[in-house]
Amino acid sequence: MEDCLFCKIIAGEIPSKKVYEDDDVYAFYDIDPQAPTHFLVIPKQHIPSAAAVTPENSMVVAKCFEAIAKIAKEMGMESFRVVSNIGEQAQQSVFHLHFHVLSGRDMTWPPG
Ligand code: 5GP
Repeated sequence: MEDCLFCKIIAGEIPSKKVYEDDDVYAFYDIDPQAPTHFLVIPKQHIPSAAAVTPENSMVVAKCFEAIAKIAKEMGMESFRVVSNIGEQAQQSVFHLHFHVLSGRDMTWPPG
């Protein structure tokens, strides 16, 4: 999608620090980390948020979670949090589906 920041990152038009890539998924470190380890896992297909997941595109969500499990294993992450913000009230700022993966510090529940 033309005006999407994360589509530009996938295309290499905006630089990013890559964590993982396959045919369907791209993962890269968040520019403003909220934990010692904080990266984003995104489908290469443009989906605006988790609220736009359908039977037609849900396979890429499964691929994202396969990637998360693989990366976590490779990084030796035993405990971590996966978060997806949906809509402005939930603090979504980039409207391309993404999963925040945060690790390396004690966390609290519920999130603010
Ligand atoms: P959201 O607020 O939509 O849940 O998450 C968007 C995330 O993208 C934020 O954590 C923000 O720090 C990150 N972000 C925004 N712009 C860039 C960028 O240009 N590069 C990288 N690596 N992360 C970005």
